[in-house]
Amino acid sequence: MPAKDLNWGFITNQRIQQLKSQVRAKEERIVELETENAVLHLKLAEYHGIIERSNSKAMQLCCLYNQQQDLRRNTYSNLTQIYQVVQKFKQDLKDFQSFSYLLIRNFQHQYQDYLSQIVDAVQGTQLENETLQSFQARAIDLEQSLQEISERYQVEKQKRKTLHNNLVELRGNIRVHCRIRPLLPFDTESRDPALQNRSISLSEKVIHATDDETVLVRCSRPGHPLLNKTFQFERVYSPLESQKIVFGDVCPLLTSLLDGYNVCIMTYGQTGSGKSYTMLGPHSENDPISPSEAEQEMGIIPRAAGELFRLLSENPTIDPRVEVSIVEIYNNELFDLLAKDSSGIFGVKRDVITTKEGKSNVPMLTYELVESPYEFMKIINKSLQLRVKHPTLVHADSSRSHLVVTVTLTISVPFDSFTDQQAIQKLCKETLCSTPQKVMKSEKACFSPRGLSPAPIPLDPTEQHKQVQTKLQLVDLAGSECIGMSGVTGTILRETSFINRSLAALADVLGALSEHRGHIPYRNSKLTHLLQDSIGGDAKLLVMLCVSPCQKYLAETLQSLGFASRARQVQRVQAKRRNLLVSGKSK
Ligand code: ADP
Ligand code: MG
Repeated sequence: MPAKDLNWGFITNQRIQQLKSQVRAKEERIVELETENAVLHLKLAEYHGIIERSNSKAMQLCCLYNQQQDLRRNTYSNLTQIYQVVQKFKQDLKDFQSFSYLLIRNFQHQYQDYLSQIVDAVQGTQLENETLQSFQARAIDLEQSLQEISERYQVEKQKRKTLHNNLVELRGNIRVHCRIRPLLPFDTESRDPALQNRSISLSEKVIHATDDETVLVRCSRPGHPLLNKTFQFERVYSPLESQKIVFGDVCPLLTSLLDGYNVCIMTYGQTGSGKSYTMLGPHSENDPISPSEAEQEMGIIPRAAGELFRLLSENPTIDPRVEVSIVEIYNNELFDLLAKDSSGIFGVKRDVITTKEGKSNVPMLTYELVESPYEFMKIINKSLQLRVKHPTLVHADSSRSHLVVTVTLTISVPFDSFTDQQAIQKLCKETLCSTPQKVMKSEKACFSPRGLSPAPIPLDPTEQHKQVQTKLQLVDLAGSECIGMSGVTGTILRETSFINRSLAALADVLGALSEHRGHIPYRNSKLTHLLQDSIGGDAKLLVMLCVSPCQKYLAETLQSLGFASRARQVQRVQAKRRNLLVSGKSK
């Protein structure tokens, strides 16, 4: 190998070695740098993390800052509001202070006023005390004069009673009123074809009330002489006169009942003439009416019940006892409509007798104690459904029996109105003995709630009060028609014949009374026998004659008018009220 070459080789090697060491150095440096780089990367990552955390912290701080800003803003607005409220409160306080000031001033003024008023009042009281004393003295004077006036009122009331009874007596103990009923649809109807053709002329009005005391019968029929006749009665009602007006004339009799008289009110007339209507009011199921109409149309019986209890309520001291019995007389047999027979059917046959004192009495008759008009009418309505009815040609709702409602009134009267003990004994004996068993049964029976005879009257002359018993008999008589007119036969003919016989007996009794005969034939029929105590003597009888206005019933109407005219002939017996019997002696 040449030296050059060797030099070159050497140099090259050296160079190589140099370069290699340089490379190594560079490589080491690269490693170093890479390490540094890695460290730097790490650091960078670390800083990134720090930056991120810082960012989030910054974000949090930002939010916190925002919140604080909001808080500050809210606080500010709250503070503003509070400030306003405080300002307002300050203003209110100011107002209140000025108001309080005003109030205190007013209060002070008022206080001053009141104080002066109190001072005035204290001064006035002394004056008033003096006035009060003078008023008290005046009140004592007034009380004394009131007592005097009350005493005078009692005296005047007694005088009024006496005058009332004198007036009733002057009018007579037997009064006859006549009621002409209006023309009704059935007046133009007839079941008889022969009569049907003549119904227009038959429904012609021939009975007229010319004034309130006169009935005119005026009729001209072909082939008959002109009929032009007048009848006078104490009162005549035209067809237009209401139930209320009719009762107005009946009403005073109830005062007489309380004054100690027996009273009888009866309706007389042919079937369909308005007897039951006058006594009771509309009663047929065929004529339904409203409650207000029913009140206007009420007849004598319901009105009398109302009036009786009204009068009794005006006299609370008389301790009244009202008992009702209801009797039907059918074919001259007497039926107690308030009693049931053994099979539970109402209407038990009874007898009428005369006691040894000459009073009529029905042994075993049922009396119901009633305490109001309502109770009274409940009993009446129940009994009415039991009345025997048969249709006739005259009217489809013909009552074929006499209905007698007897109200027995017992009242307590002070003894001081009596001066004669003997007279008291006589009066009590007279009242007591009207039913013999009453005396025997003693006071116990007086309190029986439902007795078979009116409660007996206790008699003790040492007592302050005596009891007086009076009777009100309300009678709806059966029709007084002529047999031929009603077209009846068989059973109904028999009924009619009994009815006519009992009405004839009634006429006989009235005739005997008018002639002052010693013997009055009360016992000729059950009807007159039952009514014995209310017809004649000092009893007051009102006969309400009911007539139809039309020609169709002329024969019946003339017969009824004849009966009523005879009844009017009864002499006016000087009434002797049970109580007057004694007070007369004291005169
Ligand atoms: P009586 O009892 O005499 O047989 P009612 O009283 O039953 O007769 O009367 C027969 C019919 O005539 C009944 O429908 C009744 O309502 C009617 N009536 C009777 N009188 C009058 C009157 N004054 N006003 C109106 N209707 C009457
Ligand atoms: Mg009748």
